[in-house]
Amino acid sequence: MKKILFLLLPIFLALPVPAEEFLPVVLGGKAAAALCPVPDDRACLESSMIIEKYLYLSTGAQMDAPANGPRIELEIRKGELDVEGFRFSFPEKNVMRITGGGPQGLKYGALEFCERFIGVRFLFPGPLGEHVPKHGDISVPVKEFSDAPKFLTRMLSSFPHRSRMLYNNWLPLLRGANPWRLAIGHNLSKMFAPAKYGKTHPEYYPLISGKRRIPKPPLLNVHWQPCLTNPGVIAESVRMICDAFAANPDLRTWSLGQTDGSGWCECPDCTALYPKPEVRNRFGSLDRSRYYLTYCNKVAEAVARKYPEAKLSVFAYNNTAIAPRGFKLHPALVPVITYDRMNWTDPERRKLDMERQNSWSAIAKEICWWDYFFTNRYILPRVVCHHLARQLREGYAAGVRHMYAEYIPLGVMQGCSNEQSWGDGPFAYLAYKLLWDPHQDENVILDDWYRTAVGEKAAPHLRKYFELIEDFWTRRVQKTAWFARYCRTYLVWTTHDYLDALEPDFLDRCAKTLDRTCELADEGKCRERAEYFRQGFRLRRNRIEYFLANRTVRRYPDRLFTEPFFDDGFDKGVGAWLPRQGSGKKEEFLFHSANGGIDGSGALELRYGENSSDRSAEKIFRVEKKSVFRIEVFYRCEGTDQKCIPYLSADWCDEKGERLHPAFYSDIHGKPSEKWRKMVLKCAAPTNLPAYLSVRMNISRSKKGSILYDRLSITRLLEERREQKKQASTLQKKGK
Ligand SMILES: [Zn+2]
Repeated sequence: MKKILFLLLPIFLALPVPAEEFLPVVLGGKAAAALCPVPDDRACLESSMIIEKYLYLSTGAQMDAPANGPRIELEIRKGELDVEGFRFSFPEKNVMRITGGGPQGLKYGALEFCERFIGVRFLFPGPLGEHVPKHGDISVPVKEFSDAPKFLTRMLSSFPHRSRMLYNNWLPLLRGANPWRLAIGHNLSKMFAPAKYGKTHPEYYPLISGKRRIPKPPLLNVHWQPCLTNPGVIAESVRMICDAFAANPDLRTWSLGQTDGSGWCECPDCTALYPKPEVRNRFGSLDRSRYYLTYCNKVAEAVARKYPEAKLSVFAYNNTAIAPRGFKLHPALVPVITYDRMNWTDPERRKLDMERQNSWSAIAKEICWWDYFFTNRYILPRVVCHHLARQLREGYAAGVRHMYAEYIPLGVMQGCSNEQSWGDGPFAYLAYKLLWDPHQDENVILDDWYRTAVGEKAAPHLRKYFELIEDFWTRRVQKTAWFARYCRTYLVWTTHDYLDALEPDFLDRCAKTLDRTCELADEGKCRERAEYFRQGFRLRRNRIEYFLANRTVRRYPDRLFTEPFFDDGFDKGVGAWLPRQGSGKKEEFLFHSANGGIDGSGALELRYGENSSDRSAEKIFRVEKKSVFRIEVFYRCEGTDQKCIPYLSADWCDEKGERLHPAFYSDIHGKPSEKWRKMVLKCAAPTNLPAYLSVRMNISRSKKGSILYDRLSITRLLEERREQKKQASTLQKKGK
């Protein structure tokens, strides 16, 4: 076979290639073609402005050519193409026409124009991620081309928040959009809100333990489902959906997502559809799939009679996680399967999930995936490009047409920090490209990304860096207790012991590849990007090393902490300790108790109040030398609730007082006690110094009483001295 190919190739090469025709757009920095959007059409004007902007940035040309010469027309034709699809055509000489199947389609056509003919790349959020090559001339090959997305929902989500603007402004450039072709989410509780039908139709609500349960606050949106066999519930569902579709011709999708939690109806008609005997699915939930889908089928049948293009989503999770065998699902219904498919790195979990996946693929025409990426919430970003590519290809083959992943790569993250440095490299870029077309070779996309980001010579090194990270996440973490612990829906990011799988030289190897990237990067923006990634890595390395070091210092024996750092007996007052309170009533709570301390000495007193969150006394210390601290304080509760928690915490800040990252926080909780007790906390200093140590004495979980704190002392162990001691003891041992 190979031989024949070799023989044929020269013949093909020898054939004359027809000269390609081109339409001139910019020549010598001057506009050669006119941009002609349909006037007064907002979407056409906006798409035209995208092209105009990037032509100007690339060539400096103002697009002011007269419309009687070569021109680029922009138009929308609904119905002919997919609403997100577009076409480049050349209906006559010197005319290029960009046709969008809808406003989105036209915009994507304009973006394709910029990427394909100008070479623009939107590598990552923010100005540094934007690549616009300089050209003197730009022309377009006269060659028809059309395209449309393979996945109809393409969303790596980041809910609106001011701090997340960088990412939220970027994702439309990658053709990501909030789900609008498939409505997703819990919805039955909204459709049948008790305020709507509670009084008039109590029979719409579930019969539980022989009683109608009409939901009341605070359980309005959890733990109840409508009585799904009630003909009124079915008829109202159909009416609601059809009314909404009639009112809005662009709306043809609806979510039938059940209420979160359980609370399924126990009336005879409903229970007749439950498995007998009851079956628990592999998530431990009573199986309600056949019952729930019977209702969904009835609604879909009626809606589709009027609106054949309708798409209604149904949840495949919790009690309805597994598809019922042999069930005929109405083709308008789209199951939404929730799972963190990073779990697929484990063969056993993958096998189980594929069984679940296949149960749905066997009965549904289209499937939606709900996933959990959250890359940047892990201290080492979970960047797994090849894993992602395999996942999306397999998903597409299994009928997945909608992809929604919880993400939030930048900005304020709940329970985490305010992350402003992009640590994901090509991850999101690749995700959006493959969601558009999963049949593309990810290596081609990645090579282009790395080359554009840092230049030809540095590209292999930057690539190596992200592959080291992928190797860690896909081949190493599987052996950790962390991975074993989180075997359910998603892999939890609030504990960081996945780092147990780090090889000792891992961080040095990463640092080396990034140093090489910086050395070899092209001048200008490429160099800047290389430095940016290196800087981001150093930031994260600091967190990782801190986390690992801080775990071991807790075991250091007390006798090592010989150097006094700070002492306070609170005998004369509370000094520079400042009151801190999260939220709640603003009232004074930090006091000096003249004789409430040990042996009648002075003490610091923190008082509880009604409706107050945690209250603390804080002091901040500048730290310049690498060291480990031992913080000791005595405490005593006075008239507090039994469940109150006294605790001592240490955190690290920059010079502006901003917390570095949750990885730097540590604390120790004390037992509530009316007698004096002691708390001791040991913590390391970060690698990047100087830094600022924030020490807090806290009170939590009580509505009354107070806690007295006394004899706070901080001692330290200088790391250099420890090193010297270690060397001395090894030398001694060798001498023996
Ligand atoms: Zn019922």
